[in-house]
Amino acid sequence: MPKNAWLKVRETLAKRIGKNNYTSWIEPLQLTTLEDGIARFDVPTTFFGDWVSRNFSDHILALLNAEGHPVGRAEFTVPAQSAANAISAPEKPAAAKPVKALKSAQRRSDDELPGATLDARFTFDSFVVGKPNELAHAAARRVAEGGPVTFNPLFLYGGVGLGKTHLMHAIAHELQARQPHLRVLYLSAEQFMYRFVQALRDKQIMDFKEIFRSVDVLMVDDVQFIAGKDSTQEEFFHTFNALVDQNKQIVISADRAPGEIKDLEDRIKSRMQCGLVVDLHPTDYELRLGILQQKAEYYMAQYKGLQISGGVLEFLAHRITTNVRVLEGALTRLFAFASLVGREITLELAQDCLADILRASDRKLTIEEIQRKVAEHYNIRLSDMIGPKRLRNIARPRQVAMYLAKQLTLRSLPEIGRRFGGRDHTTIMHGVRKIEELMTSDSQLNDDLQLLRRLLQS
Ligand code: ADP
Ligand code: MG
Repeated sequence: MPKNAWLKVRETLAKRIGKNNYTSWIEPLQLTTLEDGIARFDVPTTFFGDWVSRNFSDHILALLNAEGHPVGRAEFTVPAQSAANAISAPEKPAAAKPVKALKSAQRRSDDELPGATLDARFTFDSFVVGKPNELAHAAARRVAEGGPVTFNPLFLYGGVGLGKTHLMHAIAHELQARQPHLRVLYLSAEQFMYRFVQALRDKQIMDFKEIFRSVDVLMVDDVQFIAGKDSTQEEFFHTFNALVDQNKQIVISADRAPGEIKDLEDRIKSRMQCGLVVDLHPTDYELRLGILQQKAEYYMAQYKGLQISGGVLEFLAHRITTNVRVLEGALTRLFAFASLVGREITLELAQDCLADILRASDRKLTIEEIQRKVAEHYNIRLSDMIGPKRLRNIARPRQVAMYLAKQLTLRSLPEIGRRFGGRDHTTIMHGVRKIEELMTSDSQLNDDLQLLRRLLQS
């Protein structure tokens, strides 16, 4: 009986987690008992069981429950050993096992690799390209073509929720579709460390090395995680070098540029900088609107009959500037709420339903902050921003600050004038106009403004 349920669960899992994951991790599982709310499985190695436990046990439990078997826990045991070695048991140093155990679990190792599960939604198709991410997108596309390695590694960096993971998954999907024989391994730096530590503990470090050195494409997400973790960094460095030597593509992501990751070894930093380093800039209004439109289209198809009034998406793109994840969350909530109450999505509904998110996004930029950043950028004193000097190398930055104050805050001209040492509102207006005029011809000024805007709004 339980076996039948397990067969059904396996079928569903195969569809849900993809063929590679299924053959690597689910097929080798042997269900032994389904009693007392516990599903017990035999697994080839402790490491294997641990991995399945971390990555798939929620799936497995949910599906077993759906099949009518009330289970709340899954245990994975290496059969030759006592039950005390079950993964869910308290930490216990694992006994040495035959080194080949892990390998045999992956005997169909041709294209099955123990990476993290890829999110099926993170494809190039669903990635909206705009100015802030066009370079990163182009580089990712290039890698996804799978041609000769032209830059190694591709290093993607940027703030939270700007699409790094999305792009990496998209590369993996695309590579797998185009060249199914390629061994593409994607995992987070945290998983890398975790597997490394496990391999050390289980005395399977040779297997570990072999797996990582035999891939065609290695992608490690959020590499800043290994900063300060010395032996993991060491191992990562060797893996990295071995792959680069074989001319295998590596893709890395981090929340900041290689040189800015604290406690990352210098030799790793410099290796990272050898490839192509591209950043994902904070989103701009157009990109946010594009993402919202794409999402809204999807939801409209899901929740048939829902209406959305004009201007709502524009409002959200304008007001929620933090990151894409928050933006998506807002839209998801909005559609769920509207379908629940059966109302059209209007501006009022959005304001009601998203009050907390809108409030949190409402970080008020002050004129002082603008003055400080602009002064820093042009290397002048903050006091000169406010003071009376009329030299051009001071007056121009001052006008830039006036312009940005007008653009980025809701202050009136007289209010801005007061913060600039009690200047008249006509002086501020003149400054703003001057910059607007110069902007059309002065590309350096344009670059400055863009950079400053980004710094101030991030
Ligand atoms: P990061 O890894 O940089 O923190 P993620 O890749 O996890 O960010 O992105 C966060 C969320 O925002 C994901 O749901 C992702 O699909 C979405 N997202 C980010 N950028 C874009 C984009 N340009 N187009 C569509 N969705 C995006
Ligand atoms: Mg990420």
